[in-house]
Amino acid sequence: MKEHTLILLYHQFDEGKNIQNRPDRKLIVSQNEFCWQLDYLSHNYSFIGISDFVRQKEQGQKAGKNQVIITIDDGHYDNYIYAFPVLKRYSVPAIIYLCTGWINGIEKPWRLDVVSLLQSQTELKFEWKKKEYIFKLNSVKEVQYAYSQLSCLIVHEYDEQRETLLNVLNECGLKKRSNGKLFLSWSDILKMYQAGIEFGAHTITHPLLAQITENQMKKEIFRSVVEIEKKIGFKVEHFAYPYGGENAAQNREFNFCKTIGLKSAVTTQRGICLDDCYQTKLLSLPRLSVNGIWNISEFIEQVRTIANE
Ligand SMILES: [Zn+2]
Repeated sequence: MKEHTLILLYHQFDEGKNIQNRPDRKLIVSQNEFCWQLDYLSHNYSFIGISDFVRQKEQGQKAGKNQVIITIDDGHYDNYIYAFPVLKRYSVPAIIYLCTGWINGIEKPWRLDVVSLLQSQTELKFEWKKKEYIFKLNSVKEVQYAYSQLSCLIVHEYDEQRETLLNVLNECGLKKRSNGKLFLSWSDILKMYQAGIEFGAHTITHPLLAQITENQMKKEIFRSVVEIEKKIGFKVEHFAYPYGGENAAQNREFNFCKTIGLKSAVTTQRGICLDDCYQTKLLSLPRLSVNGIWNISEFIEQVRTIANE
């Protein structure tokens, strides 16, 4: 196994009850599993924060051991409730990438509404672009299938088209489904920051950046960075591309991040960072997305496999 740095990607956390049947289950890790994972990592890796990792790369230092970076995307409130106490207990550095439109409550992620809609009905029927969609929703499997199809449809529509599609779904009962405190407030963020958690930007509205206009892309990145700096008063140097796959961020996005002085940016491309080649790739870092369905042995297996790929 080559000496490497592994960047893990998390989204949401939960106490572990009532999530087994959720179609977006893979994005939610239970607090208990998270403890097990950090415990395993603490015996096999050394934890490092993203800023220290960047500094290490800039100075051309070798780590001398395998390192792991904990990253959390979007800024869900459950990060504060379930992940933050565990991170503190293990003294583990971590970074949370904030989607500022969601933090401000101006924008709302459709994922949570879609999950709630699909779990509340036995059938979903609608017409979109002259095609009729009928999803049966009688079992967990059917709900999962509908969720993956519907997510794909929504992700690939833009601006007005997406708004129109969401309006069509509103007719089926989508609107205002998820409620309660879904995202971190600025005061939660400040408390976590003072306790050592780092924060990065993750756009305003969470678009597929590579597929919007250049001006929109620049606005999404730059304004989310500036807003976090203004609200919290620290310099934002790290960024995460929404969705993060190959069609989500390319050279245009990597270059813009560099232009505005960001020091690192993470994708969701699978991979580890090897010591020799990552000085130049700090603006397109690969990660391993932790699947909420994995048990601890699957987690260990995944971590070991990726290190040997
Ligand atoms: Zn995201």
